[in-house]
Amino acid sequence: MFDFSDLPVIDNHCHPYLFDVDPARYKPLDSFVGVPDDVPGGLEHRHAMLYQRWATRELAKFLGCEPTPESVAAARARVGDEGEYVRRLFASEGVEALVIDTGYPQPPVDMSVFRRRVPVTLHPVYRIEPPIKALLDERVDYDEFVRRFDAGVRRAIREEGFIAVKSIVAYRTGLDIDLAHESEEAGRSGLTAALAEPDRMMASKPLRDHLLLRTLRLCGELGVSFHVHTGVGDPDIVLARCNPALLNEALKQPRYRDTNVVLIHCYPYMAEASWMAAALPNVWMDLSEGVPFAAAAADRIFETALELAPVNRILFGSDAFAGPEQTWLGAKLAKQALARVMTTLHQRGLIEEPEGREIAAKILSDNARAMYG
Ligand SMILES: [Zn+2]
Repeated sequence: MFDFSDLPVIDNHCHPYLFDVDPARYKPLDSFVGVPDDVPGGLEHRHAMLYQRWATRELAKFLGCEPTPESVAAARARVGDEGEYVRRLFASEGVEALVIDTGYPQPPVDMSVFRRRVPVTLHPVYRIEPPIKALLDERVDYDEFVRRFDAGVRRAIREEGFIAVKSIVAYRTGLDIDLAHESEEAGRSGLTAALAEPDRMMASKPLRDHLLLRTLRLCGELGVSFHVHTGVGDPDIVLARCNPALLNEALKQPRYRDTNVVLIHCYPYMAEASWMAAALPNVWMDLSEGVPFAAAAADRIFETALELAPVNRILFGSDAFAGPEQTWLGAKLAKQALARVMTTLHQRGLIEEPEGREIAAKILSDNARAMYG
C-alpha cells in the first residue's frame, strides 16, 4: 500500500473565505450542496450527508474534541491565533499554495486580511462575470464594453498579480458555446439583445458566448490559462448545460489551441473531461469539489480521470470556500484515495511501483507548478 501523506499539495481551485467562526455552527462542515439553511429542516438535511459526517469526525480529531457538529464548532471558536492554526493545519497535509478564485464571494473578501490569516503562497484568479455584470448595468455601447472588458483582463494579468482567468458561464447561460457568436458583428447584436431583456438571463447567451471566446483568445495572447467551471455546483447551476463535453466544439478549434484550458471540477462528468484532456493538447482537468464534497466518490474520481487523461493533465483542487479545513480535508482525502487507486493499478500491472508516487506527486502539486510556471 502506498503512503502519500508526506507529499506537497497545491490547491488548484478554492476561494477566499471569511473567518466568521460561530461557536454554535461551523460552516466548513455543512454549507455545500443541499437544500439551503432557510428551508425548514435544511441543516438536518445537510448533516445527514456523508461528507459532513466524515468531515466532523476528522476535524474533531484535529481539534481534540467530541465528533459532533456542536463540539467542533465550539472547539473551533476557541482557537486563538488564526494564522498559527491555519499554518499547523496546512503543514499537517503539506499544503504549500492556493490558487484562489476571487470572484466568489461577492462582494470580494479583502485579500490583505486573507493573506495575513493564510500563511501559504496565494495565486489569485480573475473572474470575468463581475465586470460583465457591471458593464451590462452601465448599459455602455459595444465598443466601450469590449474596450473596458479587454483592458480589465489585461490589467489583471499584467499589473494586478492574477495568474489565470476564470468563467462561470455554466451558472449563467451554459457551456454550449456557439461559434456563430464569435464575430464582432455577433458580439454587437448580442449586447443589444442582452440589454433589451435584462431580466431574462438566456437573452445574454450570444453576448456571453462571444465574451468567452474573446477571453480564450486574450488568455492565449497573455500566456495565461483559462479556468472554466464545469459540472455541478450550487443550486443555481444550469444543470442541463454544465457538462464539459459541451465546450468541445469551441476548444477543438485550432485558433484556441494556444490557450491552456482548465476544466474546473468536472464532477460528475469525469469521463468526458478525461477524454477531452486526452484528445486536446491544451486541456487540463481539475478535480476540486468532487474531492472532498462527494467523499464516497474520491477513488472513482481519480480512477476515471486516469482512464484517458495523461498523468500530467490532472490537478488536485478542493473548492474550499468556507474555511481552510476544506482544503485540508480535500488534501487528506485525495492522498488516501490516490494511495488506494495506485495500489490497485499496481496490482493490475498497469503501473510500476515508482510510478505510483510519481503520478500522485504530479496530481497533488507538480502539474500545477508546471502549468502555471
Ligand atoms: Zn469554486
